Amino acid sequence: MGDNTGDIEVYERAHKRLTVAIAGGDLRAAAMLRLLVEVDSITVAALADPRPGAAAAVAAREIGIYTTSDVADLSLVDGLDVIIDLTDDPALRARLVAYRPAAVEIVGSRGADLIRDLLMAKKRGEEQEKLLSELKVAYDKISGHEQKLQVGTQALEKANEELETRLSEIFFTHEFFKALTSFTSVDDVTSLVVDGANGILGAEISSVYLLDTSAWVLRFATAQGRPREYFVDEVPVDTTILGRAHRDGLAVETDAHEIAGSVDWTREPGDVASHAAVSLRSGEHVVGVLVIGSATRRALTPAELDRLQVIGNQSSLALQNALLHGELERLSVTDRLTELYNHGYFQQRLDEEIGRAERFGHVLSLIMMDIDDFKLFNDTYGHPRGDRVLRSVSDTITRSLRDIDFAARYGGEEFVVVLPETDVDGARAVAERIRAEVEKLSFETIGVDPSVRKTVSVGVATFPAHARGGAPLIVAADQAMYAAKRSGKNAVVVSG
Ligand code: GH3
Ligand code: MG
Ligand code: MG
Repeated sequence: MGDNTGDIEVYERAHKRLTVAIAGGDLRAAAMLRLLVEVDSITVAALADPRPGAAAAVAAREIGIYTTSDVADLSLVDGLDVIIDLTDDPALRARLVAYRPAAVEIVGSRGADLIRDLLMAKKRGEEQEKLLSELKVAYDKISGHEQKLQVGTQALEKANEELETRLSEIFFTHEFFKALTSFTSVDDVTSLVVDGANGILGAEISSVYLLDTSAWVLRFATAQGRPREYFVDEVPVDTTILGRAHRDGLAVETDAHEIAGSVDWTREPGDVASHAAVSLRSGEHVVGVLVIGSATRRALTPAELDRLQVIGNQSSLALQNALLHGELERLSVTDRLTELYNHGYFQQRLDEEIGRAERFGHVLSLIMMDIDDFKLFNDTYGHPRGDRVLRSVSDTITRSLRDIDFAARYGGEEFVVVLPETDVDGARAVAERIRAEVEKLSFETIGVDPSVRKTVSVGVATFPAHARGGAPLIVAADQAMYAAKRSGKNAVVVSG
């Protein structure tokens, strides 16, 4: 019987300590605070809310956590990694972003919701862990008693054998659940689930399908026991035993051919005599289905059915974690190198800003720029120096903007700036200022010939004068930028 504490320590050491600050003091922030202080690997260092009497501020002071009324103070916290912004206040958010030190990431309220869900799921995983360590203690006790008795009757041997089998199952299950709670990618989790179906239930064939809500099909994810071609790629949600599990949670068909078409999740339906499926859920929503099958007729015992349900439940939790994890990464909004917003966030914000401009009848301008002859610079001075230039240019852009403007890294050496409530002339002026400031930058300190200057070609387009939506506005700005390139680079061109 192995001791698992070593593995756990290794796992925990691999995950660095995280120092977190919270902006916002309402009840939601208080709940987040309570969850975070329970996590060993997280230090909550500070909480900021303009109202000293806010629920979370009071709670934080009680625990002995530094509180402040100015969110900008959070940037002074030593060794800070993440700010969770629960203020839902664009002005406070802008202040946070303005004061944030380069290494600190900001997570918004949607990200915070996901973190909360992850922490709750983690807590449930820890409860599972506790239960199984209690089982181990019980086992040690039983085997201790048994040794004292020292009677070698056949009955005792048989009982012992059963106990061993049951325990190896328990410990496989334990390892399985432990692995489930530590896996963070969807691929890893689904592979482990089919492993578990095989190891815990002795399933001959097992496969996980994930729900694709854009087409309402269950899409093949992974399998064990048969080659990939054996499984159908897509199963409509209302067909086969997978569909039944999707609807009912659990479906068991000892005679797989009793219901016509029920085995059509495989290209070789004749191969399957019995099968069962369990849905994998995230809260109320089904996210996938685990199906198991065997070529010989086999009725699941009540105990096996229980275990199928347990695997389904635990896998759901892990899958939910993995999906949330992916979602969190997707939601992360800043580009690491330049600290500007990333492409995904830009697209989202542009749509929002266009929507707002439309509603209030405002104008809005978009600036797109691309560094001139950057490939040549990289080739001459190396990629790391190129990266430093990207940072200098992005800093220059940021310095030229008002609070309500925002800049993003559109691609490699391309940047975009959104200027709400700014007409063509205003945007042209900003673009011209950025162009001129970039041209002044010297890179002598990083070992670049002082005469070397970097320049940008800039395109400007305005909503609604040049385009009536987000995507066409990008196209218009992009075309203007290429016109600037064609004109000889280091220039600003307005769409028209
Ligand atoms: P043009 O004036 O027409 O824009 O020429 P260019 O060389 O800037 O344009 P091109 O699109 O041919 O090359 C862009 C180069 O940008 C390619 C790549 O070397 C560089 N680049 C893209 N992303 C990064 C990055 O993250 N770091 C560095 N150092 N270079 C990058
Ligand atoms: Mg380019
Ligand atoms: Mg370029």
